[in-house]
Amino acid sequence: MTLIHDDGTAVLTTTDPRDGTTIASYPVATADDVRRTVERARDAAAWWAAQGFAGRRRILLAFKGAIARDAKDLAATIARETGKPEGDALLEVMLTLGHLDWATKNAERVLKRRKVKAGLVNYNQHATLGYEPHGVVGVIGPWNYPFYTPMGSISYALAAGNAVVFKPSELTPGTAVWVAGKWREACDRTVLQVVTGDRGTGADLVRAGVDKVAFTGSTASAKKVMAACAESLTPLVAECGGKDALIVAADADLDAAADFIAFGALGNAGQTCVGVERVYVERPVRDALVAKVVDRAGRIAVDGDAPTYGPMTLPSQADVVAAHVDDALSRGGQAVYGGPASISGRTVSPIVLVDVPEDSEAVQRETFGPTVVINAVADLDEAVARANATDYGLGAAVFTKDAHKGERLAARLHAGVVTINSVLGFAAVGALPFGGVKGSGFGRIHGADGLREFSVPKSIARQTRKAALNLLTLERSPRDMHLVERMIPMLHGKGR
Ligand code: NAD
Repeated sequence: MTLIHDDGTAVLTTTDPRDGTTIASYPVATADDVRRTVERARDAAAWWAAQGFAGRRRILLAFKGAIARDAKDLAATIARETGKPEGDALLEVMLTLGHLDWATKNAERVLKRRKVKAGLVNYNQHATLGYEPHGVVGVIGPWNYPFYTPMGSISYALAAGNAVVFKPSELTPGTAVWVAGKWREACDRTVLQVVTGDRGTGADLVRAGVDKVAFTGSTASAKKVMAACAESLTPLVAECGGKDALIVAADADLDAAADFIAFGALGNAGQTCVGVERVYVERPVRDALVAKVVDRAGRIAVDGDAPTYGPMTLPSQADVVAAHVDDALSRGGQAVYGGPASISGRTVSPIVLVDVPEDSEAVQRETFGPTVVINAVADLDEAVARANATDYGLGAAVFTKDAHKGERLAARLHAGVVTINSVLGFAAVGALPFGGVKGSGFGRIHGADGLREFSVPKSIARQTRKAALNLLTLERSPRDMHLVERMIPMLHGKGR
């Protein structure tokens, strides 16, 4: 909640979704505050770049160690702000530190200047390629994984030599402030800073002279951020929403599929960008799969001392869930577990829907709640066609005992990441880049591509001796041009 005081200053007050108690208040940074923060970051960026790979590695490992030693406190902070169980938050911390570690330890290998082949004709050029930092990266994050998600940008941007100004979600500023505190324990320079505030603060950051924007959030907000980036031609990486499909072949291990469907669709109250929202199952095993998913849903507790997942972090998300469920049911879909009555304030018990028309909201739009749609298909071709028929393309999953079939299906799915016989199996693999296609965004975090995303490739060609052919001068001789005429078919004329 944002409060404006009489003197014009504004504060954000956060509350614990589990019981509504007030947690803390944070300033809403003004446009001037944001600009000054970016200026401080620019000074620090020059210092950070000058540390080189070895200097940055030392400080980033100290940063990682400071977070790891206090991981339980961070998990408690995340749980308080999002409402998720502390165990889930601790898992989030572990996954995130794995990426920070990978980025730190692989930055030099991926980004250092290396010689590249100049080719026979360019024998007199010593050609090298290096990756240089952009300068200051503005990171804008969501609330659903308030540490893992923005750190996917922050870790890779820092390891690539950039300074970062991070604007966290208005729902989770405390997690970001906590992380910034750990940075100050590891390094006394303003290489990583946080500005707290609402979406207006995010918009101010985009226009504050940053050299790159890393946005994670909804597709609708990404479009606005991209329009603002266009004003100054500021490059953008956009990690947006999804409507991930999971395909179950008739030969799949149905128990494993049901376990992963429950985890991917219902875990974190369904508030996962790469959560499972749609299942396409081959008709012969449809009833068996539905029964197993319903069985898993029935074991979930949403209240008591040890709930499986917490309440909706964003209260209005429960309204989106209700609207999608109502739309699905009014168009002929059926609820085989739970239903509209499963939504009580911001607590939503699992809802399993079947036979939902493909053009309904629950199939086409991101629900971001603990619901799943299971639709039967005649065959795997139909499953792929339906899986690909939304505006999104973030993740997808395939279940089959046939490894080749799994790989073939994965190749046909329009998504940035596909898992076979698991969901979210990629999330801890540092070397795998992450990002979407279509409405799910563009650009990549994680892996070597994530490091390059936060770098500018710079090519250097050094002439080592005079060329035999005098082509790069204004005084080419007829003999030079005669040789060129003969060389073109020799070098390039054989292709058909
Ligand atoms: P959101 O788009 O409402 O907000 C995300 C962030 O952007 C917040 O910090 C917000 O203050 C800021 N913001 C909003 N409008 C802005 C603007 N015009 N200019 C600058 N900043 C602006 O999203 P949310 O509700 O916080 O997060 C949920 C969404 O994030 C879901 O769609 C989910 O799928 C997506 N998400 C994607 C990934 C991914 O990696 N692809 C990861 C996590 C979440």
